Amino acid sequence: MHFIVNITSKLSGSGTTIFTVMSKMAQDFGAINLSQGFPDFDGPLELREAVARHIGSGHNQYAPLAGVSGLLEQIAIKVGALYGYTANPERQVVVTPGATEAIYCALTATIHPGDEVIVFDPAYDTYEPGIRLNGGVARRVPLCAPDFRIDWQRVRDVVTDRTRMIMLNSPHNPTGAVLGEQDIEALREISSRHDILLLSDEVYEHLVFDHREHLSLLRYPDLAERSFCVFSFGKTYHVTGWRIGYCVAPPLLTEAFLGIHQFINFSTNTPLQYALADFLRERPGYHLELAGFYQRKRDLFRDLLASSPFRLLPSPGTFFQLADYSRVSDLPDREFAAWLTREHGVAVIPISVFYENPPEQRIIRFCFAKNEATLRDAAERLAAIPGR
Ligand code: GLN
Repeated sequence: MHFIVNITSKLSGSGTTIFTVMSKMAQDFGAINLSQGFPDFDGPLELREAVARHIGSGHNQYAPLAGVSGLLEQIAIKVGALYGYTANPERQVVVTPGATEAIYCALTATIHPGDEVIVFDPAYDTYEPGIRLNGGVARRVPLCAPDFRIDWQRVRDVVTDRTRMIMLNSPHNPTGAVLGEQDIEALREISSRHDILLLSDEVYEHLVFDHREHLSLLRYPDLAERSFCVFSFGKTYHVTGWRIGYCVAPPLLTEAFLGIHQFINFSTNTPLQYALADFLRERPGYHLELAGFYQRKRDLFRDLLASSPFRLLPSPGTFFQLADYSRVSDLPDREFAAWLTREHGVAVIPISVFYENPPEQRIIRFCFAKNEATLRDAAERLAAIPGR
């Protein structure tokens, strides 16, 4: 018998995420993979051993819906110490299988058909599908070159009575831009005047450089009361494959969030939660070292490329470095990324994929979350490419 099954996916047309495309291409061509953002080194040994210990000691059944209480408590202590935010661990914190699931739950809990969500252009590639799947409409506001600042007047211009939410992401993927106090002031004014929810993707919270501070929305009680703030253990502990993050939000928002989370994942990996709770308790200062650690990598990578034909843009945060390649090639960025992978053995991310309206520019994204040897090897290949 022969069946012909016809479906139209609700996301038809969005294709495969660029991270999968480029990491596969890196593998196929044996290239150094500076595309998808993940470290090529392991997280702390104690943390990895703690997971094994908890698997060995029988922490292998479902965790409670919101998370293991010891971890919820440690998260509340952490956001209290870092951002001065008092979170009730039982009512305001949810541990999720990655920040991506948290973003999806926050959108699904709040966005109804026809609701508008303000998203900056460029934006990380999961935001818009999450909005669309819930019947929402993403309203893109372009970030301003060359430093990818937010033009708040343009935000005001797109606010309507259907605007339900603004999605923020600082430090910003793919540009590395970070929010400043003036951004916070503008956000305060707009969100309170129009009663808008905020979804703040802060997975790179610890990767802010040059002595700047991360301005979590949790620092500002008037913003925190309307925000879902999303964080990542994968980024902080160099374990992106563990898929574990968390969301901090006021009790009513958390309740709505849990209403969705219970039917998507129910709960999150149990032994990982016990291990993270131990690690946070025993090494509460670990994340304070991260900015210095990654800033050294950023500076090394930038020094190594200083005499290459790539023009490096500022990277005030994240583990990404943008580079303008107009002195190397006229190819559009997707083709350029494929060419660089194939011909020079370095895989990168073309940033046009993060835009609704990509501007005329030739910019790619490197991930510098790599061992020094990897960065040196990649930079040597890149510096050998002739400029025009
Ligand atoms: N956040 C990572 C990046 O920007 C990728 C995560 C993923 O592959 N889904 O590269």
